Amino acid sequence: MQYEAVIGLEVHAQLLTESKIFCGCSTQFGAEPNTQVCPVCLGMPGVLPVLNKKAVEYTIKTGLALNCRIAPYSRFARKNYFYPDLPKGYQISQYELPLCEDGYLEIVIDGERKKIRIKRIHLEEDAGKNIHDPSGYSFVDFNRTGVPLMEIVSEPDIRSPKEAALYMKKLRAILRYLGVCDGNLEQGSLRCDANVSVREVGSTEFGVKTEIKNINSFRFVEKALEYEIKRQIKLLSMGEKIIQETRLWDSQTGTTQSMRSKEEAHDYRYFPEPDLVPVVVSEEWIEKIKKDMPELPDQKIERFIKDYGLPQYDAEILTEEKALAEWFEEAVKLGGKPKEVSNWIMVELLRLLNEEGKDITECSLTPSQLVELLGLIEKGTINRNTAKDVFEEMYKTGKSAEALVKEKGLTQISDSSVIIDAIRQVMSTNPKEVERFKAGEEKLIGFFVGQVMKLTKGKANPKLVNELVVKILKET
Ligand code: ADP
Ligand code: ZN
Ligand code: MG
Repeated sequence: MQYEAVIGLEVHAQLLTESKIFCGCSTQFGAEPNTQVCPVCLGMPGVLPVLNKKAVEYTIKTGLALNCRIAPYSRFARKNYFYPDLPKGYQISQYELPLCEDGYLEIVIDGERKKIRIKRIHLEEDAGKNIHDPSGYSFVDFNRTGVPLMEIVSEPDIRSPKEAALYMKKLRAILRYLGVCDGNLEQGSLRCDANVSVREVGSTEFGVKTEIKNINSFRFVEKALEYEIKRQIKLLSMGEKIIQETRLWDSQTGTTQSMRSKEEAHDYRYFPEPDLVPVVVSEEWIEKIKKDMPELPDQKIERFIKDYGLPQYDAEILTEEKALAEWFEEAVKLGGKPKEVSNWIMVELLRLLNEEGKDITECSLTPSQLVELLGLIEKGTINRNTAKDVFEEMYKTGKSAEALVKEKGLTQISDSSVIIDAIRQVMSTNPKEVERFKAGEEKLIGFFVGQVMKLTKGKANPKLVNELVVKILKET
């Protein structure tokens, strides 16, 4: 039997507003526990919530970026449940009337574009944080209580763990471009619950799904889903049934464990929030937000391909982070050739940043430093190999390319007589290879070029070395 996976993601994004969703408390991360609280977010009796306009605006912005319909009229609801991190005993959320509905996001899988439909985006408040101390005591930090959260729910259009990861990456890029969420999975400002079921290929009905929680990295999105899909297929092939439940991803063991049987919506006794008026969004407001929309990743990719003649692959990598795209464009503006700048970024810069676990915003190397280096290659002052070392030095020390070339005496040797001397020296120490070449082993040219480059400590002009090696070997 052949099975296929059906996946739908529910993503929670903490909004980058300065204050909480229903009170004026700060949302700053990392403060001393319970220092950013007030009677409203602590759920004291008699207090009244007031909706944060910015949170609504950010959600509309996201809805527009994800091609959703923005509801002219939406409403908050109470979702009732008990947990120590929820002082009111209910979470204010949106239920039957969310702010945004029926959108989509596009991913590119194996070179093909695929639309993943967005079912809804709604606004809600975050809960606090339970801290389980090794002493055996548990504590609650209410600083996070009332931080605005956007829940973005996809339709079950995702068909593989790889697609799920691509969806998450694209979504994260869009949220970061919009400036509505910092997208940090590890710190939990972006959280992903993955719903997954499997079915026989060809079947038109969905199977019973499970929901996986606690996935806090892109790698784990894929790993958790891969594990869960295998687990479900194994059960079904043994003739057993899948139980609808919530499962917890454990990155230590690489498995999912049953956490609780799935609750139903009616368990929460949803009802309209009586303390808040409905949210009415005017056409004018939507138009105003539309006007302020930044260029989004997909538009940037298209523009990079069109304006700079870049391959799709390059354009996608360069636009993953807005700051990286800006770094690239700055270098091109300063005179760098687009494809060349792109190569240096993708091969050298991203490698160096990766090694240190840094992103482009933490990079001290400037676009103008790269462009200066490219100029030195073009003038023939240094060759490409040397340039790689200079690039790394520039990155590490912040010194200019010119200064480094001088300091280390890296100037390329383009003086034929020096190169010819080196060739003769290599020939005299390798008489056997010279004999073999003469006997017709043409491919030994590579060997001689390599030896000459080694002798000149990589500084010789490789093109010239090649020409001269051929010439001199043929002459002797
Ligand atoms: P529930 O009422 O159980 O929360 P929803 O209809 O609200 O289910 O869907 C929650 C998420 O689960 C959505 O992202 C949706 O795409 C996904 N989903 C729904 N049914 C399935 C299924 N059979 N298999 C996989 N994912 C599913
Ligand atoms: Zn407060
Ligand atoms: Mg649901």
